[in-house]
Amino acid sequence: MSIIVQKYGGSSLADIDKIMRVANRIIDAKKQGNKVIAIVSAMGKTTDNLVTLANQISKNPPKREMDRLLSTGEEISMSLLAMAIQSLGENAISLTGPQAGIMTDSIHNKAKIINIVSDRLLKELENYNIVIIAGFQGLNENNDIATLGRGGSDTSAVSIAAALNADLCEIFTDVDGVYACDPRIVPNIKKLTAISYDEMLELANLGAKVLHPRSVEVAKTHGVTIHVRSSFNHNIGTIVKEENKMEHNGLITGIAHDFNVAKVVVFGIPDIPGTAANVFRELAKSNINIQMIVQSSQINNKNDIAFTCSLSDARDAKNILENIAKELGAENILIEENLAKVSIVGAGMMTHSNIASQMFEALAKSDINIDMISTSEITISVIVDSSQCEKAVKALAEEFKLV
Ligand code: ASP
Ligand code: MG
Repeated sequence: MSIIVQKYGGSSLADIDKIMRVANRIIDAKKQGNKVIAIVSAMGKTTDNLVTLANQISKNPPKREMDRLLSTGEEISMSLLAMAIQSLGENAISLTGPQAGIMTDSIHNKAKIINIVSDRLLKELENYNIVIIAGFQGLNENNDIATLGRGGSDTSAVSIAAALNADLCEIFTDVDGVYACDPRIVPNIKKLTAISYDEMLELANLGAKVLHPRSVEVAKTHGVTIHVRSSFNHNIGTIVKEENKMEHNGLITGIAHDFNVAKVVVFGIPDIPGTAANVFRELAKSNINIQMIVQSSQINNKNDIAFTCSLSDARDAKNILENIAKELGAENILIEENLAKVSIVGAGMMTHSNIASQMFEALAKSDINIDMISTSEITISVIVDSSQCEKAVKALAEEFKLV
């Protein structure tokens, strides 16, 4: 008997009709002779609504309580779905993350799964139960509920698939799979039949919302094949797996964009050994996640250092650096917020040298000004004004023949 792990996102569980439809789909999978585990997200916009409630009390609510609050959304879905399956005459049981043995580290709001104690899960499957598990949550070393970061149910599903050595991990969502860019920007964009772990990981990290980045990391480490597909039809979606050289998607596989980016500039610091170390040491201490860094060449023995990070990290970074500006010898600290990051991703880049110039030409033709540039082995990212983001994505989709 095969073990199948399915994950249903919030839009697939948004109301009772949809929950009944998901229940039928899970029962079908069981009737085909499989042991089925389903991981669920919170219904519809539940998590957003809970965040809004908390923010009416505080802009910076205590992280432990926030985790406890947000984790309730998944618990509503899991119970309703288990009831729905039982109402259709099948055996099902719902388990919270802790009941399912999902153990995390102790970083509230962005915990990582460190272990899954699968005894209970396996026992329930042996009893011919369909097991429904609350995604996004686990139990940390202090016996407290921790959540995995927004979108984290994907990671719960892939981690359980890895722990049980499942035959398949299906991620059900409201679109037909992974597209080469956001179809809300380019409606006729290509759907990808398959994508490698490395490319998917870059796209997810650079802002594509379809999969939680950590889920792709776990899949890659444990060799879990992911099938991203729609819960509203039976179409084949997108397979995320180890790269197969024969199936290259072309030079560029996808385009990601991200509005959650800001630039911090440290003006006029002395051009002597140790200044960059001083700046980034302080930021690292506060867990600020730095993305791009640019240091200008020195004038009058002074440098400017600019870097990008998420909006909330940038605001924290500005405060931290202002407090130590004197020690750094910095003249001024500035933050710029109305920006977006647009990135192209493709394993084909490793063997072609002219992709960067092709990208910049395409942006120039659309009269888009580039603020910062960074590259890695399989990505090129640019920072542009946020008002230019959609135009940039469209131009690049055309240029790299992704429509
Ligand atoms: N409900 C959580 C969120 O909205 C987790 C998830 O959906 O994966 O971020
Ligand atoms: Mg999601």
